[in-house]
Amino acid sequence: MALDDIYKEVILDHYKNPRNKRDLPGAEVSCTRNNPLCGDEITVFAHVDDGTVAELTFQGAGCSISQSSASMMTEAAAGRTVDQTLELAGQFRGMMAGEVEPDDDRFGDLVALKGVVKYPIRIKCAVLAWDVLQEALQDTGEATGARPHTVG
Ligand code: ZN
Repeated sequence: MALDDIYKEVILDHYKNPRNKRDLPGAEVSCTRNNPLCGDEITVFAHVDDGTVAELTFQGAGCSISQSSASMMTEAAAGRTVDQTLELAGQFRGMMAGEVEPDDDRFGDLVALKGVVKYPIRIKCAVLAWDVLQEALQDTGEATGARPHTVG
């Protein structure tokens, strides 16, 4: 089987059997965004505990690229610190811009989306979940250098 076909299978598997696709009651952060170009919509929910993304789920609808990317993201990012997650988001964007060679260990199934680089119109689909996650995490104020509100 050609590598492209394997990647296609991985994407379809996540699309048909999405991981962590459910509400997350009591989530500290959540955010919804859509991609009007394609009609994709994704909501991300996260439990952020002491600077770590303890649990990460999503809900959404749309094309196989957007939904499989969200599913892969929940697997790749859960358990990481907020900073590590934002760094991974940056690297994923880099991969989708054709600038970063993905690291299999860190990226896991996300590597399968590398082929999307060839279809510029679909890149927004692949990056949507990461945009939502990034925005959600920024709301926590736990990202580096972003703690505008001091509760106290
Ligand atoms: Zn799409």
